[in-house]
Amino acid sequence: MWQGLINKYRDFLPVTEATPIVTLNEGNTPLVYSENLSRIVSAEVYPHAKNFAVGVYLKYEGLNPTGSFKDRGMTMAISKAKEDKSTAVICASTGNTSASASAYAARAGLKSIVLVPEGAVALGKLSQALIHGAVVLQIRGNFDDALNLVKEISAKYPVTLVNSLNPFRIEGQKTGAFEICDQLEEAPHFQLMPVGNAGNITAYWKGYKEYKEKNKINKLPRMLGFQAQGAAPIVRGEIVKNPKTVATAIRIGNPASWKNAEAARDESGGLIDMVSDEEILNAYKMLAAGEGIFVEPASAASVAGLLKLVKNDYFKRDSQDVIGNAKIVCVLTGHGLKDPDRALAIIKKPKIIKPDIKAVLKEIGY
Ligand SMILES: *Cc1c(COP(=O)(O)O)cnc(C)c1O
Repeated sequence: MWQGLINKYRDFLPVTEATPIVTLNEGNTPLVYSENLSRIVSAEVYPHAKNFAVGVYLKYEGLNPTGSFKDRGMTMAISKAKEDKSTAVICASTGNTSASASAYAARAGLKSIVLVPEGAVALGKLSQALIHGAVVLQIRGNFDDALNLVKEISAKYPVTLVNSLNPFRIEGQKTGAFEICDQLEEAPHFQLMPVGNAGNITAYWKGYKEYKEKNKINKLPRMLGFQAQGAAPIVRGEIVKNPKTVATAIRIGNPASWKNAEAARDESGGLIDMVSDEEILNAYKMLAAGEGIFVEPASAASVAGLLKLVKNDYFKRDSQDVIGNAKIVCVLTGHGLKDPDRALAIIKKPKIIKPDIKAVLKEIGY
């Protein structure tokens, strides 16, 4: 039976016999092949090929226990907090970190405290933190303000910080890269993901490098990260004071792992670019209606980024990398049910009609 990612990847993680493993059996998420996206990319790189030469895969992290990849980091952070005899954990959050921290803290019997930006957290995420019993405080400010506060509090008081500044978070999250390699039976050529506080791109790059060191894979992917246009400090090279985007999970103006994200980009020969809210929402709809995969807006930034790169002939320019069986992985970081209001806001409301067979048949065109 799958018993969570610490059990599976123990040899790569800083745990010992003495570590009490706090797990909800996170990880082992599906890597789903996308025929539509494979066709779109292949048509650019190999316009005359009959069959697809490029395979695009979607790593559906929304299927983790609390609905986002944050669970990978949290199983490690909470297990280590418990090993260190901590009794309380604290985090700043755009939503998913608080959902995950409060669930794992509940499981471990620890107190959890979360600071969120007022009015900027999707309802699903807020409801998770509340029902798992966290002390939830809404800050009249943004995520960056909340992060500064919890950093100061955890430095002065006996409460463990479980934001991705906590190195155990990164350790857990790097297992996402391990799983992709295990599922593909090789490293992908390109890996696309959204970038917010930049912990996850840091973690994946660490994971790929460790797998290569241990000869589990024989090449490294190019890391392609995407920020939202209104919250793109790394792309613009300066802090964004008032980050704005529909993708609330990446609405961050001063990423904690900024330098590490740049290192992942530069060491891998990749890039960090930005996508507009319109591009994000188009990818969001496309994933739901074309692939059957419901993600939250921030997660759709990976696919919005893929489509932008295709438009800019990025893969064509790079075609020596993508000869043969090239594989591209887009990480889909969180579940769409976290933020159902967003879906309802952009789709036409269902019609209301009489309970009459004629009326129904007329509407459905039979
Ligand atoms: C946290 C989060 C991100 C951003 O990850 P970082 O590690 O902060 O860059 C992206 N998407 C979702 C759904 C998230 O919860």
